[in-house]
Formats: sequence, C-alpha cells, structure tokens
Amino acid sequence: MAEQKILPFYGHGKGRDYCEFSNFYWHDVPYTFVMPEYALQSWTPKEIQCQFSEKAIMALKASLFDDQETFGLIVESMYPDEAKALGRQVQNFQEDLWSKHLEETAFEVVYQKFNSSKRLRELLLKTGNKLIVEAAPTDHIWGVGLAKSDPRIWDPTQWDGKNVLGRALMQAREKLREAPASQAVPKPEAKRARKSQNGDAEQQILPFYSHRPNLPFCEFSNFYWHDMPYTFVMPEYARQRWTPKEIQCQFSEKAIMAIKASLFDDQETFRLIDKSTSPDDTKALGRKVKNFNTDLWSKHLEQTAFEVVYQKFNSFKHLRELLLKTENKLLVEAAPNDRIWGVGLAKSDPKIWNPKQWNGTNVLGNALMQAREKLRDLPAQPQAEPEAGTEPKRARWRRGDAAEPSQAATEVAPTSLPASAFDCYVVLDFEATCDACDKMQMNPQEKEIIEFPLVLVDAKSLKQVDEFRTYVRPTCHPVLTDFCKELTGIQQEQVADAPLWPDARAMAEAWLEDRMQTLGYKRYVFATCGDWDLKTMLPSQCVTSKEEVPMAFRRWLNVKKLYEQFSGKRKDMLGMLEGLALKHEGHHHSGLDDCRNIARILIALVQRGSVIKEDMLSVRQGGYGQ
Ligand code: AMP
Ligand code: MG
Repeated sequence: MAEQKILPFYGHGKGRDYCEFSNFYWHDVPYTFVMPEYALQSWTPKEIQCQFSEKAIMALKASLFDDQETFGLIVESMYPDEAKALGRQVQNFQEDLWSKHLEETAFEVVYQKFNSSKRLRELLLKTGNKLIVEAAPTDHIWGVGLAKSDPRIWDPTQWDGKNVLGRALMQAREKLREAPASQAVPKPEAKRARKSQNGDAEQQILPFYSHRPNLPFCEFSNFYWHDMPYTFVMPEYARQRWTPKEIQCQFSEKAIMAIKASLFDDQETFRLIDKSTSPDDTKALGRKVKNFNTDLWSKHLEQTAFEVVYQKFNSFKHLRELLLKTENKLLVEAAPNDRIWGVGLAKSDPKIWNPKQWNGTNVLGNALMQAREKLRDLPAQPQAEPEAGTEPKRARWRRGDAAEPSQAATEVAPTSLPASAFDCYVVLDFEATCDACDKMQMNPQEKEIIEFPLVLVDAKSLKQVDEFRTYVRPTCHPVLTDFCKELTGIQQEQVADAPLWPDARAMAEAWLEDRMQTLGYKRYVFATCGDWDLKTMLPSQCVTSKEEVPMAFRRWLNVKKLYEQFSGKRKDMLGMLEGLALKHEGHHHSGLDDCRNIARILIALVQRGSVIKEDMLSVRQGGYGQ
C-alpha cells in the first residue's frame, strides 16, 4: 500500500487533467445509462440518455425513492448543476436507504460511463494501479474534503472523507481490465440511435440548445452574447424609408427583431429594439411590434433566419470556424417549447435523433446549415472579415469592448483565451458608504459608491502603467459615518466636493478611452477582487442613479477565482497577498490602495503561469439597473 501512487483529481472544466472523472463532465455525445435493478419502479424506463453522469446518479435517486415527477425533470435537465439541484428535491428521501446503495450507485454510474467510450475506458485503464482520490475540498462523501493543493492529500491516513467517487473509479477500472475488450466498446444500439433515421443513414445529427456560456454550441443561439458588437446590414426586403442601413448587435436576437419592426413599419419599436441591451428585452419588444401580420412574417421567416445567421457567423472568425467544423451534420435546435425555430423536443428526448419524429420546423437549424454552405463557398482568406461595405463602424468603446470592431475578425475563440489576448488589465475597486462593522447594517439599496479608482496594468510588461481616481458624492446618505471614514480613509470634504455618480462614471470612461487610444490598447478586461464591485455595487448604484449598467462593465475577471485556480484556495485580498508572499501596501479599504494591491496579485499570478480563460470571466448578461 505504501508503494501505491496517489492520483488526486478535481473539477470538470474541459482541459483539466482527468476532468472526465467528474460527474459534471460534459460528454460530446450522450450515452445510454441502463437503470440498475435495485432502483427500478414499475414506471422507471429501462434506460436514459446522459450527457453528464450526474444525471444518472440523480435519476437513480429519484427512481429509488419513487418520485416519478422529479425523475422526469432530471431526465429533461440540461446541465449538471440543474440535475444536482433537482436531486436535492427528491421526495420520500431516506438517508439510510440512500447510504445503503451509495457505493453501488457510484460504481454503476462510473462503470457504465467509462464503458460507453473507448477513449474514456483507455483513460481510466492508463491510471494503472494508482490510488484515485477526488480532491473535493468541501465534499466528505464522494471526495475526501481536501483540495489538491493540500499536502494531506498524499497521505490516505489523513483524508477527511470517504472517497466514494475515487473508489468507484478504481472498482470500474478493475472490471474494465477484466472485461474482454469487445465487451467494453459502446453498445451498437446506442450508437445507431444517434444517427439520422431519415433514410440518409450517414448524416449525423447535432442537436443544440441554449446560450448559456460554455455549453457546447451556445454560439448557435440568437441569445448568445458576443464579446463585441458586430454590424448587421438590414436586408432590402425589410427596409422602409426611415430604416438605417445597418445596426450594431451584441446578440443576434436584435437583428431578428429589428427586421420585424422595420418590415411592419413600426419605427418607434425599431428604435427601442436598437437601443435594447438584453436578448430578453429585445424579444419582448419584438412581440409588441405594431401592424404585425402573420402571413407576411411567415413569408420572410426563413430568409430572415438565414440573413441573421449568415451575417453573424461571417462577422467572427471563431464562429465561422465553429460552424464549418460541424461539417455535414444535421443541425437541429432542440428547443422543447419552440416548434418554429426549433423542433419542440429537448436534447434528451430520444426522438431528437429521428427527423421524422420532430415536432417543429427547425428554422434556426436550417438557417445555420444554409449559412454553413455559403461560408464554405467563400474563398479562404481572412474570410471572417465582414463583406466589403459592411465593416462595423468603430463602436464606442463603452458599448462592449475596447477593441476596434474590425478586430472582431481575429477574435480569439472563447474557450482558450491566453493571457495575452488582452492588451491590458483595468483593476477596479469601489468603496461605498457604510456604517457599523457589518455590511448588512445599511439598507443595501442605499449604499452608494464614494470612491472610483482604476489601475491600468500592461499585459505584456506586467507593469502598472497608470492610475485614475475620483471620489463620488453620495446622495442617500451625503454625510459619511465615522465608521466609514475610518474604514476607507475617505474624508467628508473629499466626497462633498466630488462629482455625482453619472459624472464620475463619465470621467472614468473618458480617462480609460483616452488611455486606450494613447497607449494603443485594443482589448482590455476589468479585474476586481471578488464579484461584489460589478455584480452587486454597480448595478445598485445604477438603480439609485436611474441609469443602465454600462455595457463595458458587464464582464470582468474575478482575481479571487484566478487565485483559487492557482492555489486551490479561496482567499480575500489579504490572504492572497500572504499566499503569494507579497506585503500589503497602503491603507486597506482605500479604493486606490486596494487597486494597487489587487494589481500586484494579478501580476504575480500571471507571472507564475496563470492563464486567464474566457470561461473564468464573470459576465452579467442582459437586464440592467436592477
Ligand atoms: P473593499 O472591498 O474592502 O474595498 O470594500 C468595499 C466596501 O465594502 C467598503 O467601501 C464598505 O462600504 C464595505 N465594507 C468593506 N468592509 C466592511 C466592513 N468590515 N464593515 C462594513 N462595511 C464594509
Ligand atoms: Mg476596497
């Protein structure tokens, strides 16, 4: 035993070592999970399709406790966290019975999962005789309650959990090792089920749904949020005298709804759609278009879908490549509630694999395939560049990203963004009115920003290159409490003479725009310590000041997450400094001093090899001022 090597794993993010071991791991193709005998009820289907093994565990749980309704929801669930949350709601749950079957369940789930694919089987077998351990810092049942970075992980006697998942993996490894290879390949029925049964047996089906970041093919959705706006040229058939030649879109739903408003000559709604900042708002506005007439809309629907999809995919290199990579697959929007753009079926519905059984017209899937055809025919140059005459105007940096929109063509694919994808980091740390020693004591809606500092870090040289600070005059509680003055070091006169929020914000924006131009930066990303500044405080300030949350402030890097990825530990600013052997400088809770310290943490992390990936960025999508 002393000789046995230990293999700790944790996390399901694609690209992580052994992310496949996680029950949240996303399989490119769903696999069949056969429900084990001990969990069957009279109503339980023999098998279900899973794209992540968390679904198998939770479905098994619902069946074991005879909760048919939750079982149905779990089978339909689209995401591991959704399945997990549903699993917690299973009725008639009894701890004893669950514990009795827990290890058996873990084994069934893991074995069937790894037996469903050659690649997974080989991955598991390649671990040899290593002692596999789930280094889940907060899970003492499936994991051992220790992070990968905890030295105790290397000593099983010091583990603080049962390692149910690790043990199930080792048991499955045993069984797979014994099974003749032929038994370990995927079941042919499962494979066949995934082929189209429309007579064109060779064409594979690729169902997609949802715009949630990081989901495979989220880019296909019209709600998908582009990092930077692209230009949509209004098609001839939808134009009125008053219709502008083009509009800027950060999600393609806007292009669809703009066409609709223009086609039906509703200039007022068109204007609101053009100004709207979230796909939901846009869609709601589209429903209010006046003079609407179903026949005319239906007549142009497919053409509209094609125009919108084609222009969108032609505006970004990575989107174009993504679409072309689907080759000749039959693209189908698995939208359970949409029988026009989608096919009225969920991804998990076995009928999705047979076009004859679809319940809808698949307008979006068809438009994507048509756009794919046209893009394929284009000459292979820096093709993703917009067609002549359609180059986006230089977007105001405030609406999205600082990049020139023509930069859109060379945008980096969202899944693997190297740190150098940004020219600079803009560290931001608000200070706000407060009292007593507890954040909760002041009505959170009355909290207002009183200091707005920014620190600019060059992403190449990793040096701080500039800084900005303005104080801000609060209106709900214009007089600072002694506590607040002491905490932040900000004096009454400093805020009394300061601009109100809208002016302070405009000053910061103007400063940043000027720095970007002068220093020749195109792409930046805000960096904050935690999500409070841009997720909570800014939106709240915007409500108080009756303005929208500016686009540019809807995406940021949470430095705590970056640190956690580096060290396996979640720490506050002082903890991170300590962990990186950096001395705290200045006055803690002075916004500018905090920014400088956060910048030092960020620099140290990048110097130590941390890579800032798109899926690590926090994004506030849609909605504003709430
Ligand atoms: P910080 O993230 O440390 O810069 O804090 C931002 C804001 O959160 C401060 O300006 C205060 O409004 C509030 N805050 C931070 N720490 C405390 C605390 N210990 N008690 C009350 N409010 C706090
Ligand atoms: Mg601060």
